[in-house]
Amino acid sequence: MKLSVVVPIYNEEDNLPELSRRLADACGRVEGAQWQVIYVDDGSTDKSVEIIVAQRRADARFTLVQLSRNFGPYPALSAGLAHADADAVVTIDGDLQDPPEVIPDLVACWRGGGQVVLAARRSRRDRGIRRLGTWAFHRIFGVLNDFHVPANTGIFGLLDRQAVEEFNRLPERNRYVPGLRYWIGFDRRVVYYDRLDRAHGSPKQSLRRLVHLALDSIFSFSYKPLKLMTVAGVLISSLGFLIGVWYMLKRLLGYETAPLGFTTLVTLVAFLGRIQLVGIGVLGQYLGRIYDEVKQRPLYIVRRREGVAPSPDVGQEPHVAP
Ligand code: UDP
Ligand code: MG
Repeated sequence: MKLSVVVPIYNEEDNLPELSRRLADACGRVEGAQWQVIYVDDGSTDKSVEIIVAQRRADARFTLVQLSRNFGPYPALSAGLAHADADAVVTIDGDLQDPPEVIPDLVACWRGGGQVVLAARRSRRDRGIRRLGTWAFHRIFGVLNDFHVPANTGIFGLLDRQAVEEFNRLPERNRYVPGLRYWIGFDRRVVYYDRLDRAHGSPKQSLRRLVHLALDSIFSFSYKPLKLMTVAGVLISSLGFLIGVWYMLKRLLGYETAPLGFTTLVTLVAFLGRIQLVGIGVLGQYLGRIYDEVKQRPLYIVRRREGVAPSPDVGQEPHVAP
């Protein structure tokens, strides 16, 4: 049985030595597995690549896919998944927040028939605004989507061969990996573990980027914001109609008072203006994403490969071997 572990790496020089050691330990404990780690370097500017190459010299089971620049964690993950040819592929964060020691449990769950195995953390130790943001995001995502991505799951998990093939065939550029991984279906299972603090360095994703990711995942998985806008539009225009009738009657019956009418008008215009702006904003979110998809740019560009075979681009049918 072949096992691949895909790890996106962006400036993780402090974590890499321990990460490699613990990954090797954990994979070694999976019985009968021929394993391989695929480090996807997402344009690191520190010594990450050198450390990976040195690790590869010591142990050829560590491989490298180096991207041409920083593309973000989800494109990096997608690149890793496209290069993984194993029977089961684990995806894991490179900052040791996802403990590699859980990998044997994921494999056991896969051997028990799970095809999409999600690792869910029992506790989250983020603090302050990040914690609040994560909590709010999972809530909102849960409400807006017709399918349910279990709360407290990140990218840590396992996909079997069939699931990986289907994942690689998904054509979209906006890749919210946890959502897509759930969307593809198959036999899904959840394995629980405790999430730790990041071992070294600060989180690589700025708050701004996290907000962007959250918006991406909401707008690329849900049409409910559009529906809500329609509902709000209908409600507000009927209200406007009723108010119009009310003032017309007042005028016709001779109760009209000018100063009051002015206030009403200003309030209404401002209110309607705001609603329209929100509506346009929501449309813009979708429009921008449609534009991204239409451009058909590749999701990532590979600069260098060490120990893995070139693979077709994500979103394409696999090449037929000559
Ligand atoms: N990462 C990446 N590209 C980026 C940012 C992060 O490949 O632009 C990697 C990073 O090295 C780590 C994983 O993605 O292995 C998760 O990053 P981080 O810890 O910053 O995210 P969080 O834990 O907040 O989800
Ligand atoms: Mg992290």
